[in-house]
Amino acid sequence: EIVVLRLGHRPERDKRMTTHVGLTARALGANGMILASDDQKIEENINEISPRWGGSFFIKNNANAMEEINNWKKEGGKVCHLSMYGINLPDIVSELKTEKKLMLIVGAEKVPGEIYEVSDWNVAVGNQPHSEVAALAITLDRIAETDPLLKTFGNAELTVIPMGKGKKIVHDNELIEKNKQKK
Ligand code: SAM
Repeated sequence: EIVVLRLGHRPERDKRMTTHVGLTARALGANGMILASDDQKIEENINEISPRWGGSFFIKNNANAMEEINNWKKEGGKVCHLSMYGINLPDIVSELKTEKKLMLIVGAEKVPGEIYEVSDWNVAVGNQPHSEVAALAITLDRIAETDPLLKTFGNAELTVIPMGKGKKIVHDNELIEKNKQKK
């Protein structure tokens, strides 16, 4: 089980970035994203993804970061904060890979010092500054047991048929009808 904790989201500035954190987390195999700020728009956007594209990714809006971290640890989970200042991922990846219950924390602006303290690992995806979306994607890819790009998502209204040129999407009309009635 992998959850992503998104810190420091500022609704006016980080809309796209936080949505991309959620989409990337889902696409590369995480089970859900916890948002440590209140942004119902992001919650709605992400909640529309799973019925449409399959799987069961969850989002929790307006969470208290320290409470989430402490509860996760009480349940036996481990916490990995992604930061350019941390141990470089290649040097720790084999240890991370053995964890069955892992929280990955990504920031936006400056991350509070207590996060560095409370985390089991502070891990850098290379010790150069870049992006929370890139850091998350590379980490999820490197710690995965099987190739996350080959994962299929069950219960999808829409499925892409891969092709070299053009675009093809298959619609599951029965499921689309069923989901409409649920609304
Ligand atoms: N300046 C902020 C600080 O010092 O805490 C970080 C800003 S950075 C744009 C936003 C987030 O991207 C960070 O909190 C971290 O999660 C992630 N990030 C950026 N570069 C990273 C790297 N090289 N390795 C791991 N995470 C990184």
